[in-house]
Amino acid sequence: MASLLLESGFSLTEDPSAADIIVLNTCGFIAPAKEEAIRAILEAADRKPPGGACRFVVVAGCLAQRYPDEILEEFPEVDAVVGTRGYADIPWVIGCLSDAARKGGGVLPAADRIRHVPAGDSLAHLGAARRPSTPVYAYLKVSEGCSNRCAYCAIPGIRGDHVSRPMDDLIAEAVRLAGIGTRELVLVAQDTTRYGLDLSGRRLLPDLVRRLAAIPGILRIRLMYAYADGVDDALIDLFRTEPKLARYLDLPIQHASDPILGRMNRRDTRHSLEALLHRLRRDVPGIVLRTTVLVGFPGETEQDMDVLLSFLRAIRFDRLGCFVFSPEEGTPAAAMEPKVPESVAESRYHRVMALQQAISAASLRRRVGTVESVLIESVSDDGIFYLGRTSGEAPEIDPLLHVAATSEPLAAGQLVRVRWVDASDYDLTGVTVDDEPAESPDPPADPPRAADPGLPAADSVPAGME
Ligand code: SF4
Repeated sequence: MASLLLESGFSLTEDPSAADIIVLNTCGFIAPAKEEAIRAILEAADRKPPGGACRFVVVAGCLAQRYPDEILEEFPEVDAVVGTRGYADIPWVIGCLSDAARKGGGVLPAADRIRHVPAGDSLAHLGAARRPSTPVYAYLKVSEGCSNRCAYCAIPGIRGDHVSRPMDDLIAEAVRLAGIGTRELVLVAQDTTRYGLDLSGRRLLPDLVRRLAAIPGILRIRLMYAYADGVDDALIDLFRTEPKLARYLDLPIQHASDPILGRMNRRDTRHSLEALLHRLRRDVPGIVLRTTVLVGFPGETEQDMDVLLSFLRAIRFDRLGCFVFSPEEGTPAAAMEPKVPESVAESRYHRVMALQQAISAASLRRRVGTVESVLIESVSDDGIFYLGRTSGEAPEIDPLLHVAATSEPLAAGQLVRVRWVDASDYDLTGVTVDDEPAESPDPPADPPRAADPGLPAADSVPAGME
C-alpha cells in the first residue's frame, strides 16, 4: 500500500500526528490481535478533529475483511474499510474520499464512507514495487491464503484458499529488493511448504529457493511457517546443500497429543512429528527449530498437557511461541466442547513458557565460545554495540544479538564472523573475529544436546491454578 500510494503522488510519514490520512493495516485472526487493532483504530480516531488534524482514517487488512460492517457501524470516525483483496485499490479509495470531501465542502458526508471488500484476485497487490520499511531484510510473500482447515483457524475464511505467486514474479521482486539493499529474504505464506502445488501439482519451494539464492546481493534466505508434512526429502536436502538457506525452520506443530491434533484437524501425529524433528536434527546439523503451540483447545486434558510438555522437553525447540485458544466465530472449534476454563488455559500457557524459557536460555548458553556469521542490521540505542542476527535468529520474533567490532567499523548489511563471549537468558554478546572468512553464512556449530541441568524437571514447572 505504501509503494502504491507513493507512486500515486502521496508522501509518507511515520508520525501519525503529522498525517492527513491514517491507513491502518490490521490483523484479526484471534482475540488479542482484534483487541490490538481496535485500540489502534481508537487512537487514530482521536487524531481527527477536534483533537487532531487528520482528514481520513482508513482501516485495511484482515479485521476490515472480516468485520467491514461492524467497523463502519461502531467507529463513525472510520472513513473507509479496505479488505485484504482491496489493497491494490488503496489510491483509488483515498481518491474517492478526497473527491467526496471536496464536494461536501471539506467534510466527508456519512453516505460517502467506503466499504471496499472485493472478492477479486488475492495476489493483485503483491505485484507492487514494495518499499520495505525494514533494514537489511525483507519479507517475500510466496503465496496467499490457506487450503488447510485447522479447526481453530479463521485465516482461510479471511484470506481464502491457497494461491501461489508465479515464480518469475517472485524472482523479479527479489532482484529489485536486492538492488535496494535487501540482504536477507524471509519467505512467508500461511503455509510455505505448499508453494507451487497449485501451479504445477508439485511442491516448488526448493526450486524457488535455489533461484533466489542465485541472485547477486542476497546473502541469506529464511523459511517461515512450514507445515510438517510438507517438509519432504527435497526440502531437507536443500537445507544441507544450499549455503544461503538459513539452517532455521519455523514449524508450528500446535500440539503433540494425538487426540488434540485430531480434533484440531491437523494431519500430524506425535509420532510423525517426532520422526521429522529427529530427522531434521540428524540430517541438518545445527538447524535451529522454532515452533508454535496452542493450549486450552476444547477437550484438552491434563494428560494431553503432560504429553505436550514431555514432547517439548524431549525435542527442545530452540525457540517457541505459545497461544491460548481463542474461539473464533465461523470455525468448527468455536462450537466444540468441553471448553477449557480461561484460568486453566492461562496457567497451561505459563507452564509451557516457563519450560521453554529454560530451554531457550540453555540453547543460547551453549553458543558461547562458538563463531558464527552475523548479518549486521543497526547500532544499539546506547551506541556501544552493533545489532545483528545469525541464521538462527529470525527478524522481529527472535533476539537481536550484540556485536562489538574489534577493528574496522561495521555497516548495515555486512556479514561478519563473531565469537560469542557472553550469554544472558535472552541475548548473546560477541566480538568480531578478523581472521575468519565471512563470504557465506555458515551454519552455527552443532553443540551436543545433552540434558541441561538448568532445565526444570516435570514436577518443578509452575502449575499455576490447576
Ligand atoms: S495451516 Fe496455519 S493458516 Fe492454514 S488453517 Fe492451519 S493454522 Fe490456519
